[in-house]
Amino acid sequence: MDETIKGIIKDENVLVTATVCTETVEYARRIHDTWPTATAAMGRIIAGAILLASTLKEGQKIMLQVKGDGPLKEVVAECDWLYRVRAYVKRPHIYMGLKGEKIDVGRAVGKGFLNVIRDLGLREYYQSSVELQTGEIATDIAYYLNVSEQIPSAVSLGVFVETDNSVRAAGGFMIQTMPETKIEIVEYLERKLSEAQPASSMILNGMTSLQMLEEAVGLPIEVIHIAEIKYYCSCTKERVINAIITLGRDEIKKMIEKGKTVNVECYFCKKKYKLSIEELRNLLREL
Ligand code: ZN
Repeated sequence: MDETIKGIIKDENVLVTATVCTETVEYARRIHDTWPTATAAMGRIIAGAILLASTLKEGQKIMLQVKGDGPLKEVVAECDWLYRVRAYVKRPHIYMGLKGEKIDVGRAVGKGFLNVIRDLGLREYYQSSVELQTGEIATDIAYYLNVSEQIPSAVSLGVFVETDNSVRAAGGFMIQTMPETKIEIVEYLERKLSEAQPASSMILNGMTSLQMLEEAVGLPIEVIHIAEIKYYCSCTKERVINAIITLGRDEIKKMIEKGKTVNVECYFCKKKYKLSIEELRNLLREL
């Protein structure tokens, strides 16, 4: 079962979060038919969105969007407060080989920006952007947390893709100190984390999210909550219609003039929606 855990290091002011999301990432891979480099990028951003969702309140969502000048172009994941996650990658058929033992996500992403969009509910959004540091996604999320949110954070994300292209391990962990954290603990964690094995290796070895945290920090963890994760897309025909409305009257008129049923495919789950000419005409009348 895919899960996420949130806790604190016992008696210390250190927030710890981890996720094992192998099945979710494998499910996303099958929807999007991604090749290994695209799978790794999408898996890392899914794990990152789950980790950041640990701070959400009821009704809230967080979206991470990596936009770069590399062949992948754009990778997006969104996670809500119930850990329902969905994702897509603009160019799914990308495989660029390895860099050392790891899939070379940085080169596939290139230079660009990480955008973090918080949907606070009631049509209230908060967006912030940072320049990509490596394009490897984990370091970029850590940089965003350190710079934009001023929370000293270490982030490790990993995806292991099997030779048949399926996902054998996906997940990650995040360690965040607070202003009250003792300096000795901060220094200890820096040392400990620099020696920690990659998240993908821990998951390949069968570790749960709690075991991963205990292994990474080497101290007892007090669990705040554990939650199940699932891939879920909230798209509906009504939302597709709303998206078409935002194109404006002229675009809708052009669609009607073409005289063909309009097919719209959801980016996140590939579900297909059809709009007949009659529906488009009604839409135009309502505008
Ligand atoms: Zn959908």
